[in-house]
Amino acid sequence: MVLVLNEPESPHALKAKADCATRGCRAYDLATSRGTVSAVLGLGSVDLERMAGESTSLSVVTPKSPYILAGRAIKDTDTVVTIRERAQIGGGPLAVIAGPCSIESEAQIMETAERVRAAGAAILRGGAFKPRTSPYAFQGMGLEGLRLLRRAGDAVGLPIITEVLDADDIGPVAELADIIQIGARNCQNFSLLRKIGRVGRPVLLKRGMMVTIEEFLMSAEYLLSEGNMNVILCERGIRTFETETRNTLDISAVPILKAKTHLPVIVDPSHAAGTWTLIRPLALAAVAAGADGLMIEVHSSPETALCDGGQSLRPYRFDELMSALAPLAGAMGRAIAGSA
Ligand code: PEP
Ligand code: MN
Repeated sequence: MVLVLNEPESPHALKAKADCATRGCRAYDLATSRGTVSAVLGLGSVDLERMAGESTSLSVVTPKSPYILAGRAIKDTDTVVTIRERAQIGGGPLAVIAGPCSIESEAQIMETAERVRAAGAAILRGGAFKPRTSPYAFQGMGLEGLRLLRRAGDAVGLPIITEVLDADDIGPVAELADIIQIGARNCQNFSLLRKIGRVGRPVLLKRGMMVTIEEFLMSAEYLLSEGNMNVILCERGIRTFETETRNTLDISAVPILKAKTHLPVIVDPSHAAGTWTLIRPLALAAVAAGADGLMIEVHSSPETALCDGGQSLRPYRFDELMSALAPLAGAMGRAIAGSA
């Protein structure tokens, strides 16, 4: 059960919020079509119904889904995540995030940043802390790589996104990056989710490869329940019996998520496909299915890439992809978002 305060600044609502704070409840302000409301979530020790009876501005809602803050039961308007006033994800325009799987050198990330920016990407990606299957594989350049990514983003005027693998790195990643990425392997690392939820940075949460849509939304709920409402969901393929692709892109997840949550939903065809030739058809399919954006791996020399070369587009192929996306986005009533 959730107590909804329709006039969050009214005396009754303020009293209800103050009462809750001392009894293990928490109030979340949410922008809805009815204006801002405050949703009070409790742990069961508070008599929410009694409190609701105290004022006409209070009501009780019992959402059908367990993801109370991520669902549409209370917040009925789409969330638009604004990235440092320079880019936005959700709310219409299509946001394309592009860059290499991993930052490998200053020259590599600089060149890629320039190319993806010129092609119309809104956000630059690059992994500094890499989750690799083998402990002997390249693990990323760490903080040094993150600094190079920051410099490249600043040089071309693009916000940056990078993955945080370990709770110890949240501080520096939150300081240097504009969006914190939580990778598929950490989608259900609940203690990491809680810690990242307490940081005031937009978060991109990738769907775990064995995670159902409901579980995915519950992972998002961990972030929201800590007070971070700037969450972007990313479908990146799930594990199935099929071996022709690295993962199976769950295209149905896009319209299903869009119906169930107000959070923006983007698609990463690179990690779904595992092969660059499939990126264009899957990216087009994702946009046709209603995705708010895409994440695409781009590398100027895929054959020598230290990670995920086979699924990376060469810059000129990324140019082609962006050209192919424009008319489809137009047909869907969306533009491709640039960066301010
Ligand atoms: C990545 O984006 O580089 C990555 C490791 O993705 P995922 O967590 O989806 O495997
Ligand atoms: Mn990768």
